[in-house]
Amino acid sequence: MHVLVLGAGQLARMMSLAGAPLNIEISAFDVNSENIVHPLTQTVLGHGLENAIAQADVITAEFEHIPHDVLDVCEKSGKFLPSTEAIKAGGDRRIEKALLDDSQVKNANYYIINNREDFDAAIAHVKLPMVLKSALGGYDGKGQWRLKSLDCVESIWQEMAECIAATPTQAIVAEAFIPFNREVSLVGARAKDGSVSVYPLAENIHTDGVLSLSTAIDDLELQSQAKQMFTAIANRLDYVGVLALEFFDVNGQLLVNEIAPRVHNSGHWTQQGAETCQFENHLRAVCGLPLGCTKLVRPTAMINILGEDSVPDALLSTEGCHVHWYGKEKRAGRKMGHINVCAQSTTDLQHTLSALAEVLDKAVYPAIHELAKSVN
Ligand code: ATP
Ligand code: MG
Repeated sequence: MHVLVLGAGQLARMMSLAGAPLNIEISAFDVNSENIVHPLTQTVLGHGLENAIAQADVITAEFEHIPHDVLDVCEKSGKFLPSTEAIKAGGDRRIEKALLDDSQVKNANYYIINNREDFDAAIAHVKLPMVLKSALGGYDGKGQWRLKSLDCVESIWQEMAECIAATPTQAIVAEAFIPFNREVSLVGARAKDGSVSVYPLAENIHTDGVLSLSTAIDDLELQSQAKQMFTAIANRLDYVGVLALEFFDVNGQLLVNEIAPRVHNSGHWTQQGAETCQFENHLRAVCGLPLGCTKLVRPTAMINILGEDSVPDALLSTEGCHVHWYGKEKRAGRKMGHINVCAQSTTDLQHTLSALAEVLDKAVYPAIHELAKSVN
């Protein structure tokens, strides 16, 4: 099997690593250069989409911000999974919100803003405090504003108006601010025959809007709520592949924050912590193979490595630690790799994580230092 992935970043790379044992070969389309590259070496294998589409058995995507003309030619080939509808919902918060409502899953109250009058209407409808998010192009907390007091309306409007003017078809989605207890996410897969398999929920800690620590959790009640919402959305899209849902946990009640129609950063722990990792299951689904078991095999957490290109030897020699580099050039704040940490029990996992605070820099890994403080 030969799978063409739209996007040539770390997610395509990890699909390639997971596909090799199944004889699934991956090539990646770099949307910026329009080159077809090898996802591990970035060696250029060809240029332009046409040939690559012809040579692929299946086409899929590793991110949702894909130009619509690219999506359209892929869809026309009849080889693209999941559907372009699903990718568009992940890349446009207006479509995403409509999908959540259609699927009857709980989400934050919202209002779409195209102009200054809409902003006033949003304030009346959603009420303060609110979170304002650009409909297109947002990721890692970028393209967002928080409105807590009416004093800031004009200054925020200036910035939002610039954002709207910069991109045709841009808008802002105003959302009620949700006072959540914690953030969790569910990664799961839906196969061509409609069967659904989900991983255990992960609890996610963000630092400056970027995921820093993700830990698989065992909570039967939340898991069942999350699976029900996952199934509603995946069925509504007739989804094929791995899909991720991000939730706010408000006193045991889940609200969907957003969806990602792809393998997800909060599912990287599955490489060491689940029977079949999310990358393999995505490939199995889009290639029409049965899904692999998604059960937890041992308590596992994932730590993102942001803006660093090395880790201390002491970490590499710590039992249960597995480092995954993405082969990227070092840049401040950039996702460079991640560390999966496994243990025999959740208590052991907490101890290993907090012991890592002794070898990991506080400025780079604040979530680990916070955790160490709370454990000790
Ligand atoms: P990513 O790509 O990292 O998932 P994103 O840029 O797509 O992020 P969101 O997930 O929508 O954006 O928001 C980033 C973070 O902002 C959330 O993880 C959450 O901590 C906070 N946030 C977003 N929406 C709300 C809300 N309605 N109420 C409270 N906090 C929110
Ligand atoms: Mg998010």
